[in-house]
Amino acid sequence: MIKGLTGGVEIVVASGKGGVGKSTISASLAIILNRRGFKLVAADADAEAPNLNLVLGETVWDSIEPYYEGRYAYIIDEKCIRCGECLKACPFDAISVVDGRYVVNKLICEGCYTCSFVCPTKAIRFARDIVAGYLRIKYETRYGFPLVSGEITPGRPNSGKLVTEVKNKAKKIGGPDSYVLIDAAAGIGCQVISSLAGAHIVIMVAEPTPASFSDLKRIYKLTRHFGIPAALVINKADLNPEYVEYIKSWAVKNKVDYLGSIPYDEKVAYAIAEMKPVIEYYPDTPASRALYKIGGKVASILSNLEEWRLKYLPEKIEPFIPIVIKPS
Ligand code: SF4
Ligand code: SF4
Repeated sequence: MIKGLTGGVEIVVASGKGGVGKSTISASLAIILNRRGFKLVAADADAEAPNLNLVLGETVWDSIEPYYEGRYAYIIDEKCIRCGECLKACPFDAISVVDGRYVVNKLICEGCYTCSFVCPTKAIRFARDIVAGYLRIKYETRYGFPLVSGEITPGRPNSGKLVTEVKNKAKKIGGPDSYVLIDAAAGIGCQVISSLAGAHIVIMVAEPTPASFSDLKRIYKLTRHFGIPAALVINKADLNPEYVEYIKSWAVKNKVDYLGSIPYDEKVAYAIAEMKPVIEYYPDTPASRALYKIGGKVASILSNLEEWRLKYLPEKIEPFIPIVIKPS
């Protein structure tokens, strides 16, 4: 554990690119760590395409809680003088004229307040009642640990906020002495940023291809921005052994802890089809043996976390330059 830690250790499994086996690896690591005595909670932080429960074979939830999104604008028609200023100002085209009345489409509205600033009659108000997604909880999966999963309603924005809710729920269920293993979304978008914020260790997953390596470097930049030490797993390694060596040398140069590689193994696909983690379905297949080895390494990192973090903390924080889009 880390001195002064109050909310559990957060381990994020992330990849810049989708389809590299992140959820398979997350499920296996969760099982291995739980069996090694770590008080584990699994969190599926891919709110747009949650599937960790499917890899773990869980489809029935103990609790499904609605997640309410921020705010949306609505117009009090009696106060509206039909000046059209709000429609012109809305940066998201959420306002239209229907039967001569100005109305807000609350599914598009981002609650940015711009319209209320320009309205001369103060006719615009704000409300919060949109169910933007759900928090789904299994208090004890068949592998013995809880699972929290976020699911955003199709078309709703702010999935990053839902991911934060997922993490908070997982930490609350696990308590301060828990280890929350977070299966992040692919890419470097807001869901991934929410997954990384406050994390203690990031396990990056890549394949030995130029596309995956390029995305790996992008996710690594984010880990540096947040000052999180990072480790690396290379999946389907035997598809391109030379490129594995290339990525490994990049990892050494960049203070990324290389945990090992997993060979391509068709048994992984069979296990996914059966909704069982490969280490359970085919415990003696090459991929499972590699996963056990990597799980052992993660367990020893967690047992000496403070020391490991000191060794792999990024030397320089990567600046983050946000793009601010202002209404014209
Ligand atoms: S200006 Fe902002 S708050 Fe107003 S309707 Fe458009 S998105 Fe919603
Ligand atoms: S800015 Fe205000 S008054 Fe003008 S159309 Fe919009 S709601 Fe009506």
